[in-house]
Amino acid sequence: MPNLILILGDQLTTNISALEDADRKQDRIVMAEVHDEATYTNHHKKKIVLLFSAMRHFAQRVEADGWQVHYQAYHPDNHEQSLEAVVARQLRETGADRVITTECGEWRLHEQMSQWHERLDVPVEIRPDTRFIASKQEFADWAEGRKQLRMEFFYREMRRKTGLMMTSGGKPEGGQWNFDADNRRKWTGKPPAPAPFRVEPDELTREVIDLVEEHFADHFGTTEDFHFAVTPEDAERALDHFIDFALPCFGDFQDAISDDEDWLFHSILSPYINCGLLDPLAVCEAAARAWHAGRAPINAVEGFVRQILGWREFVRGIYWMNMPGYAKENRLGNTRALPWFYWTGDTKMRCMHKAIDATRRNAYAHHIQRLMVTGNFALLAGVRPEEICDWYLAVYADAYDWVELPNVLGMVMHADGGYLGSKPYAASGKYIQRMSDHCSNCHYKVNKSTEADACPFNALYWHFIDRHRDDFASNPRMGMMYRNWDRQKPERREALLRRGDDLLIDLEQL
Ligand SMILES: Cc1cc2nc3c(=O)[nH]c(=O)nc-3n(C[C@H](O)[C@H](O)[C@H](O)COP(=O)(O)OP(=O)(O)OC[C@H]3O[C@@H](n4cnc5c(N)ncnc54)[C@H](O)[C@@H]3O)c2cc1C
Ligand code: SF4
Repeated sequence: MPNLILILGDQLTTNISALEDADRKQDRIVMAEVHDEATYTNHHKKKIVLLFSAMRHFAQRVEADGWQVHYQAYHPDNHEQSLEAVVARQLRETGADRVITTECGEWRLHEQMSQWHERLDVPVEIRPDTRFIASKQEFADWAEGRKQLRMEFFYREMRRKTGLMMTSGGKPEGGQWNFDADNRRKWTGKPPAPAPFRVEPDELTREVIDLVEEHFADHFGTTEDFHFAVTPEDAERALDHFIDFALPCFGDFQDAISDDEDWLFHSILSPYINCGLLDPLAVCEAAARAWHAGRAPINAVEGFVRQILGWREFVRGIYWMNMPGYAKENRLGNTRALPWFYWTGDTKMRCMHKAIDATRRNAYAHHIQRLMVTGNFALLAGVRPEEICDWYLAVYADAYDWVELPNVLGMVMHADGGYLGSKPYAASGKYIQRMSDHCSNCHYKVNKSTEADACPFNALYWHFIDRHRDDFASNPRMGMMYRNWDRQKPERREALLRRGDDLLIDLEQL
């Protein structure tokens, strides 16, 4: 009897574990564009185009390679609008007596799929996702018994495990594990940032763009200027483009923000790595080869490898070890609604406007925009973690629950009480001024704090510090902030708190 092999939209590689030992003559691959998956959040239109188009290209490819494929294209009138319904129907139609799949990337679907064997009345084999460098169990074993989980130590394990950027004697190349201190330069236009890699949409992608315009018109963002890769070959070319043109400066300007450059020296590879078009380890190996060949400096390559081998693996481990409770965490007790300008970009704060507008156009913003601009503002303003998490899940082409949630709830909102990060990434306008050229173009004045035209980040920062004294005063990494705050004159502190209160009452007007 044949097996049904379900391939999800973020599993677009023939190296996926569900296809191991499969028989292309007998077994049937099932793929489906279903309403439930396309609408569980207000996904950016470009994200839907990317995934539907990449799925269609993948299905065509495997079919041409001799696989039997059942592919359900999206239509609002399709009878089956959930993955379970599609699989149930395929079981009835083919007489298959087993379902094989690879574990998915979010708790919601994971829970559903783990009940399928009862609901569908056939064995359902859910295989580990071997694209990750550490399995869930390996992460849990590493975490066991540790008082604090810190990415840096996990990252070193991953370096040892893969041998990436390691000497034959088992030491880190360059004599250090981490070159982060070299990676904090402001970018002033030189060297020029490379244009991002672009692929012109082919006919299949254009069809999907029309479909998204017709059926997902009310979703966030735009399909205009869609230029993402949708095949492994083009994603590979995007990787080459990054290594040739951006990697050499990736480290230096990793934390920089620009008023007129959306992409700077970032790789823009996360959408491809996360959906299976690129393999994360192969991406790291390509960067390491560039260092060995003298084509990129060590601070750039180590910094890049750390993001994938370290942060990416670490947040995934945190997610699976702590779900479903993790999603409900709100240790700072935030209650404020997400300001509407997160959806429109309609705010006088230049840095926020620029980050949100780039997000709307590109389904992309780089890490520092996500962390220190839109994230920092939500932290300082005390936005409910659930609302800001939903926003991040919706607006980025690379957003999946396993990676978005720990980054937002843990890293940005500190809502897990410091489980993921040792201190909140709270910062005043000074940080944004130091790392960007936004402030000179802003309605607000970054060097003012209490006046009507003062940068909102300034008073909100001190308000945050003051209102969370009980949460942070004993944190050794925050002690200096509290000493600075306590040293200020009482009238000054009062004025800052008053301004903070006023801002919080009317965030929408900012
Ligand atoms: C609030 C917030 C939300 C985020 N949401 C997501 C998300 O939904 N999906 C996502 O893939 N990344 C997310 N990140 C991490 C990071 O911002 C993106 O991976 C990165 O901006 C993607 O762009 P890039 O490919 O140009 O990355 P680069 O800057 O070129 O980095 C290289 C690669 O490292 C990996 N990486 C870097 N930082 C992280 C990180 N913190 N966690 C996991 N992987 C990382 C990505 O695979 C990325 O492609 C988030 C970060 C923050 C602060
Ligand atoms: S002045 Fe404040 S609000 Fe304006 S760009 Fe600078 S940091 Fe952002």
